[in-house]
Amino acid sequence: MGVELEPTKTYDLDAAPGYPALVDPFGRDISYLRVSVTDRCDFRCVYCMSEHMAFLPKADLLTLEELDRLCSAFVARGVRKLRLSGGEPLVRRGIMTLFSTQSRHLATGRLDELTLTTNGSQLARYAGALAANGVRRINVSLDTLDADKFRAITRWGELPHVLAGIDAAQAAGLKVKINTVALKGVNEDEFPRLIEWAHGSGMDLTLIEVMPLGEIGRLDQYLPLSIVRARLNERFSLQDTDDRTGGPARYVCVGETGGRLGFITPLTHNFCESCNRVRVTCTGTLYMCLGQEDAADLRKPLRASEGNELLFAAIDEAISRKPKGHDFIIDRRHQRPALGRHMSVTGG
Ligand code: SAM
Ligand code: SF4
Repeated sequence: MGVELEPTKTYDLDAAPGYPALVDPFGRDISYLRVSVTDRCDFRCVYCMSEHMAFLPKADLLTLEELDRLCSAFVARGVRKLRLSGGEPLVRRGIMTLFSTQSRHLATGRLDELTLTTNGSQLARYAGALAANGVRRINVSLDTLDADKFRAITRWGELPHVLAGIDAAQAAGLKVKINTVALKGVNEDEFPRLIEWAHGSGMDLTLIEVMPLGEIGRLDQYLPLSIVRARLNERFSLQDTDDRTGGPARYVCVGETGGRLGFITPLTHNFCESCNRVRVTCTGTLYMCLGQEDAADLRKPLRASEGNELLFAAIDEAISRKPKGHDFIIDRRHQRPALGRHMSVTGG
């Protein structure tokens, strides 16, 4: 990868006069944008990527300057929460520049939250810079505390690096939430230990049901969280809460630890009615729903002119097509995932 230049200009769209805040046809405000800033990663988690991935040529990717302009356009149209994801966001060269330029929207009050989802491998290096750029909370993905199992799940990952990254993040004052994908026969015996560890260190933990994305054939590891919850109920006292963090997780409070435990169950529950989010890939493709194929190309209007009229028109047109709900169907007979794209394309 070549060195990317610092952005030469930032599009400080304090507002977009004449353009209203984004609202979809079902009256949902679009206030949350997730951006996959790279399709690359230094891990190869078995449920997310195949071992030999073909990555995109660099010319297809939006530059950091284009990403800044795109994010700013969404902020100007009412997005108040921005999450950078990937691939692994912290392996994109120069990514701190994007955090730095986007932090201006925190300063003006147009953005409430700038955050990221990371595998934690590079956190020890970047935690201080993230905090300095106004990041307050981060999500770190971690499925096991067993170093061998960690290597088996991530293929290329080293647990001690991630644990050191989490320590560095907390030392820098970042609030950390742990995301754990529930995998049948792999980490299902470890959830009590993970919960006690996370809560003991002041971190929430969210369990995620594995989703049928990408041609990776991981349906054999599908573990319904209803089963996990029932098992955890025998060991812990779980009290329902109304807490929502603007995402699809439902939270319970664990009596024994005093910590929060979230469940993200995209396959068994429907969280679509309150869906306030859209996703952009690193090539500028806008997905209006994680569970559907419909998408809009924003790179073309972005590159077609310096002004934002074409970009806003493309965003408006796409939001007018945001579906009411998702459509995950596991085709068990053919053992095929419902969607062909990998999670690393849309950033989860
Ligand atoms: N590399 C970063 C990370 O791992 O946190 C960010 C990108 S990753 C695609 C975002 C989240 O998606 C991670 O928490 C990961 O565990 C989750 N994920 C990936 N593939 C998944 C799948 N098939 N089902 C459920 N969650 C998945
Ligand atoms: Fe990389 Fe995250 Fe996918 Fe794992 S889940 S391969 S860390 S993008």
